[in-house]
Amino acid sequence: MKTIELQLDRSYYTRLAIMGAMTGFPAFGLGYMAITVPVLPLLLFAILPLGLWGGVTLLEYRRGAKALDEEGVTRRDGKRFLWDDLQKIKLVYMPLKYGKGALNHAELHFSTGQSRIFPRIVDRGWEAILWAKRMEVERKAAAQSSAAAPEAQKRKTFDLCSICSQLKEVEFGFQKHGREDENTFLPDVSKSLQFVHDIKPGQTRSPSLLQCSECDTYYLYEIEYEYLATGSEDGQRLTRLTANDALQYL
Ligand SMILES: [Zn+2]
Repeated sequence: MKTIELQLDRSYYTRLAIMGAMTGFPAFGLGYMAITVPVLPLLLFAILPLGLWGGVTLLEYRRGAKALDEEGVTRRDGKRFLWDDLQKIKLVYMPLKYGKGALNHAELHFSTGQSRIFPRIVDRGWEAILWAKRMEVERKAAAQSSAAAPEAQKRKTFDLCSICSQLKEVEFGFQKHGREDENTFLPDVSKSLQFVHDIKPGQTRSPSLLQCSECDTYYLYEIEYEYLATGSEDGQRLTRLTANDALQYL
């Protein structure tokens, strides 16, 4: 069974140390004052933020996902949730003044509880979020067509995939009216990719997100059209996306 183990990366400990120092120094200062000037409330003021920070950190840590497999998620505190109980995946972005910032974490809501994945502090975090997303999509599809359970397929990476192995990282097509003999096209195999959705819905010639049905690799499909008096030009570009890049288009 395929499993994704989420190891905390060094940046987590760095962040922990910085946050600890930020709350620890004032607490230490206040604590010292409380000893020299024995005032109990002062001591409480010193301990409270440190305790609160410690508590929140510990809670966050314990609720973080430790491993993902084909059946579910195991949290660091040992609690286990099954994909069959998955209700939704909420992506939480860093707030920015204008628009949304980078992805901070993904919340996996199960009917039995929730777990989080922080892609910036665990290695393979992006992969894990995409995995969870795929489980969500698969469960939804299965719920919609409960008839004929799809055959469990062995998932492969793109280089071993019969479709993707025939596609380069970036593929181009270019056609010019009146110069048909010089036209180039995307490889025929690209037609086997499944349309996921438009990235800018409503916009003419929106780029779209495609996915390989065999190995789940995502692609960005962009089209360009230029009207020229000498003959219009059509261009297509198909780019293979890494798990990290695909996430922003989901
Ligand atoms: Zn593929």
